[in-house]
Amino acid sequence: MTFEGFETLAIHAGQEADAETGAVVVPIYQTSTYRQDGVGGLRGGYEYSRSANPTRTALEECVAALESGARGLAFASGMAAEDTLLRTIAKPGDHVIIPGDAYGGTYRLFSRVLERWGVSWDAVGLSDPAAVRAAVRPETVAIWVETPTNPLLNIADIAALADVAHDAGALLIVDNTFASPYLQQPITLGADVVVHSTTKYLGGHSDVVGGALVAADPELAERLAFHQNAMGAVAGPFDAWLTLRGVKTLAVRMDRHCANAERVVEELTRHPEVAQVYYPGLPDHPGYKVAVEQMRAFGGMVSFRVRGGEERALRVCDRARVFTLGESLGGVESLIEHPARMTHASAAGSPLEVPNDLIRLSVGIESADDLVADLLQALGD
Ligand SMILES: *Cc1c(COP(=O)(O)O)cnc(C)c1O
Repeated sequence: MTFEGFETLAIHAGQEADAETGAVVVPIYQTSTYRQDGVGGLRGGYEYSRSANPTRTALEECVAALESGARGLAFASGMAAEDTLLRTIAKPGDHVIIPGDAYGGTYRLFSRVLERWGVSWDAVGLSDPAAVRAAVRPETVAIWVETPTNPLLNIADIAALADVAHDAGALLIVDNTFASPYLQQPITLGADVVVHSTTKYLGGHSDVVGGALVAADPELAERLAFHQNAMGAVAGPFDAWLTLRGVKTLAVRMDRHCANAERVVEELTRHPEVAQVYYPGLPDHPGYKVAVEQMRAFGGMVSFRVRGGEERALRVCDRARVFTLGESLGGVESLIEHPARMTHASAAGSPLEVPNDLIRLSVGIESADDLVADLLQALGD
């Protein structure tokens, strides 16, 4: 039987009941090697767990289905996925365009690691496709997109940037961590590769670090799989299992993340101590129209600036109780953080520097009333 609804795929793609025992949940195949039926007689193609492991295969097939790609690959972290992808598609002399407000770890991978290996890059504001087109060079092999971005939630037009990339003979790569495949499917909009930190919404419970790649083209997927095995930064079986368990509830979690974020945004926009709210679902957000076209809803991430400068922002972070002060995002529990001193501290003085009166929220799936009450008390005197 074939099925294609997102929620059904999340629960069933790659996850047939176990042939031998009928176990409904894919087991944790905590094994490094596999008994062969005579030399080279592999069962299901498994020989060594760096090359392939059945629990990881289940996650890889599921994520590929959710992103409408040819094949998925699971890694030990989002950064491991990014590194494997970039060393597969770029060589010394090549050039990549990255977002002007790229995820800090991505920026660091380009500026501190890949640059030493001869891969050059330019950081460009991606909300302007004409500026991106102007930055393309003959050596450009990829345009790296994030949308929404971290922490200012800027929006890039994936379909427009796919045209820019393809006109230049380059790949369009989308880091879809913030939206998740439930809200946005870049491959259906023309992207060639999707990147995830599965640590965030896909895992969804703040209990596992992982990454994934999904490629649209089977030939590119084959090259990525070769590099995944050759470089070896794979997801372990237990991590793959935890992530798969999280993915099953992605749709219902995202619905609640979005609904709660909208409630929080509503309260913040009319609060006298809040100077500005960043959320792509606000009609005056510059990316609103594009977001409406390419996203199902606007996500669980909200940033805002407070009146009273950095001191006030730090006080709000300290006083929050239901919102836990911490880095990361995308888990069931709400988190609050001060990007200038925490996630973006290393960006001071770089193009990624953020205002020091900015607060970022990862709105969780607790009761909306408790979340709103917590923010109101934290913002009070
Ligand atoms: C967290 C994150 C990453 C890196 O993933 P890790 O799992 O922490 O290695 C990459 N991109 C975005 C947008 C992220 O939020």
